[in-house]
Amino acid sequence: LWRFWGPISALSKVYSQLLSAMASAERIFEVLDTEPEVKDRSNAKAMDPIQGEVVFDNVSFRYGEDKPEVLSGIQLHVKPGQRVALVGPTGAGKSTIVNLLMRFYDATGGRIRIDGQDVKEVTLESLRRQIGIVLQDSFIFSGTIEENLRYGNEDATDEALKLAAHHVRIDQFVSQFPDGYQTQVEERGSKLSVGQRQLLAFGRVLLSDPRILILDEATSSVDTETEQHIQAALNKVLEGRTAFIIAHRLSTIRDADLILVVRDGRIAEQGSHEELMGQDGVYKKLYMTQYEMQQSLAVKTGA
Ligand code: ADP
Repeated sequence: LWRFWGPISALSKVYSQLLSAMASAERIFEVLDTEPEVKDRSNAKAMDPIQGEVVFDNVSFRYGEDKPEVLSGIQLHVKPGQRVALVGPTGAGKSTIVNLLMRFYDATGGRIRIDGQDVKEVTLESLRRQIGIVLQDSFIFSGTIEENLRYGNEDATDEALKLAAHHVRIDQFVSQFPDGYQTQVEERGSKLSVGQRQLLAFGRVLLSDPRILILDEATSSVDTETEQHIQAALNKVLEGRTAFIIAHRLSTIRDADLILVVRDGRIAEQGSHEELMGQDGVYKKLYMTQYEMQQSLAVKTGA
């Protein structure tokens, strides 16, 4: 059996990080850092404000003309506000699907539409402004905590900032720093834990309030309290947004409106947890395996 979801929460308490899962986040980063070849068309228009409906119509993709096809025949219809969990082995194509949605690359075949607007026909800026992204080891830059939060929305009022901080539970640890929100943090600094960095990234999402959210669910180990904060904050952040989650936790997968089982660049199965469990296919088999693994681990670790 190939590894399906990567670490589950019980596992990730035992092993500190799953490197293969980190790699996908880093790849998204690489494209964020190096402006790729995708450019605005000369007649590109600003994307109208969206509700968050996403359609993939027979989408295919290869990373270069001489490269193999890594996505084929991707067919998707996500309604505004739905939570989509992408699951499947490393290298299946999950990150590529979200890369195409944000147009870090252009699909080589088929069309991607958001609220009926072809993503190739709108400006990159107007597209990406309406999509939030939270990666595993969330992006922090050198500056104050407040500056890091405001990165989501520079014009946010102090009230909005405080409220967002409260909703994602960062007010509690920030108040323990002598300088509060004016505390200096560093890009790779140790002042914030991985869990706290993720909460900060959630705060940014609340401030910028995008209709679509892309989330690479953290797999790093965090303490139980932070874990609970992350779960609560995550639920708040997902409220009312269309979300694409590269999911590692069984609970996230189970609760998704739509689960995409990605395998070899295709969607092998899609549906809700109940639908897929009723199909007696690959999802059910792997869910049961993962579930049993989690149970036996919980017994062993006393979790
Ligand atoms: P997943 O997110 O499911 O782990 P990816 O979407 O990252 O899978 O990868 C799908 C396939 O595309 C893999 O075979 C991977 O090696 C390849 N791939 C990913 N990124 C690039 C890239 N920038 N250039 C060339 N090939 C890539």
